[in-house]
Amino acid sequence: MRIDILTLFPEMCKSVFSESILGRAIAGGKLTVNAVNIRNYTLDKHNRVDDTPYGGGMGMLMQAQPIYDCYKALCDQIGKKPHLIYMSPQGKTLTQKRARELSSYENIAILCGHYEGVDERVLEEIVDEEISIGDYVLTGGELPALVLSDCIARMVDGVLPNEEAYSLESHYSSLLEHPQYTKPYEWNGKKVPDVLISGHHANIEKWKREQSLKRTYERRPDLLNNALLSETDKLFIDNLKQNAENLVQT
Ligand code: SAM
Repeated sequence: MRIDILTLFPEMCKSVFSESILGRAIAGGKLTVNAVNIRNYTLDKHNRVDDTPYGGGMGMLMQAQPIYDCYKALCDQIGKKPHLIYMSPQGKTLTQKRARELSSYENIAILCGHYEGVDERVLEEIVDEEISIGDYVLTGGELPALVLSDCIARMVDGVLPNEEAYSLESHYSSLLEHPQYTKPYEWNGKKVPDVLISGHHANIEKWKREQSLKRTYERRPDLLNNALLSETDKLFIDNLKQNAENLVQT
């Protein structure tokens, strides 16, 4: 997979992709991530890439020409049109499911807006999909693009040790993950739950599943509507509900 981030601030992106798990994956050739500077494509003699909005209003807008030429140069370079995502607070909110789907694409390009946003005409021309990382507004699309790239990249084959490394985590199956513990066994007077050191594999798996269901029920009950639940899971959740109702009545 190859991800190209179209941005006015490529250095912001580069630092993130040189570190840790993703840095190693990129160095090891599991995926390629490039940050392309849109400013390199402006035809303005003063290197400008933004201007004031027609009709008045606050701030500046990124102009169509440098973005379009940057995109065209990328298409020429890779020999095809990448799936172009515009990071925008007006897009569909990012989900694990969508990131999983995107992780199977060969070429993705991500356009980062800045200032007050981008001239609508170039968006109409090149954008395949708009994605938001939440119902709030940031100064630019770089952090959202990095969030999206990170989320996609860790599900690309070979980036993590195996599929279990992400498929058992929160949100993959519409459940939150169970609580986790590492050494030492006792810290600050708190001990690790006995079952986790029992060595009894079936009991450990049962505990993890129940804790995951309990967490999701308590923190994000809305997720349970989309989770794949066994009859045992449903019974467990019914018991949680019953206990909660009993508590309210007493
Ligand atoms: N004027 C725009 C509006 O009201 O919809 C907001 C522009 S915002 C200040 C500048 C850029 O940051 C956007 O073009 C977009 O690329 C990015 N951005 C801001 N918030 C975002 C979010 N929640 N998700 C994705 N991108 C976001």
